[in-house]
Amino acid sequence: SIVVTGATGHLGRLVVEQLLEKVPAERITAVVRTPEKAADLAGRGVRIAVADYNAPETFDGLFAAGDRVLLISGNEFDKGRVQQHRVVIDAAEAAGVALLAYTSAPGSLTAALADDHRGTEEALLASGLPYTLLRNGWYHENYTEQLAPVLEHGAVVQAAGEGRISSASRADYAAAAVAVLTGEGHENRTYELGGDQAWGFAEFAAEVSRQTGKEIDYRPVSVEEYQGILAGAGLPGPLAAILAGVDASIEKGELVVDSGDLSRLTGRPTTPLADSVAAALEG
Ligand code: NDP
Repeated sequence: SIVVTGATGHLGRLVVEQLLEKVPAERITAVVRTPEKAADLAGRGVRIAVADYNAPETFDGLFAAGDRVLLISGNEFDKGRVQQHRVVIDAAEAAGVALLAYTSAPGSLTAALADDHRGTEEALLASGLPYTLLRNGWYHENYTEQLAPVLEHGAVVQAAGEGRISSASRADYAAAAVAVLTGEGHENRTYELGGDQAWGFAEFAAEVSRQTGKEIDYRPVSVEEYQGILAGAGLPGPLAAILAGVDASIEKGELVVDSGDLSRLTGRPTTPLADSVAAALEG
């Protein structure tokens, strides 16, 4: 089987959708915490397995020898994600899966956000399992799905200076994962995935302005100021610090990925940022 964890998340859903275009539904297993959220997938013939990274016993017997597994990194920053991911790696090792692919972060990223990914990569390499590191760059959607405050204030407020980002759409990263899960020769490889065109927040502001007809500027602020703005908007302090740290990394160029791995794996150019802006404005 091809087994996908986090299958009811944004990325996982796109992976399962794209897998359904390539392989019979009965060869796909969606690992979910909440089966009700996966009722539509079950209805299409996808096998549903219920498991939680926080409960190792729920992964007992879930994998079979020869499975190809996509471990989608979790989003519970306060629950020890390396240990959560290790639960999946240990179960995959016990079963003898053929491949474990993991959605990591760019190798160039030094922000605290990347620590869990480095820790998981180390655990995966130490397991001796055949692995693929999908070092996903940033999603367009991190910004295009946060347009409400931008439109309200007529400003893109970030702490990234003139830094640039090689983002791509979630669907692009899903297509790369599907290429690895359904293709050959990806064992023990590390892919640095990012969009074909890097952009800065001034360009992003200009694109949103162009598409909405509203005046929208980029207002660069300091990392401290940005952290305060995020906390003021209701984000928990630690998360505000993590996100502000990402902007500091962007300013340093750590989210520029120019390997070409993403378009090479998917066999097509990555989605332009403008397309994701348009999709978000329509949605
Ligand atoms: P989502 O938040 O939409 O999905 C996260 C998935 O992880 C969900 O399916 C969630 O399950 C699952 N999950 C979380 N905790 C557990 C747990 N304890 N046990 C089992 N499953 C769990 O994120 P995306 O799909 O957009 O992105 C995938 C991952 O990529 C994120 O989790 C995060 O690690 C990382 N990410 C990357 C970004 C980038 O720009 N590259 C941006 C944001 C996140 P459920 O559906 O039940 O909630």
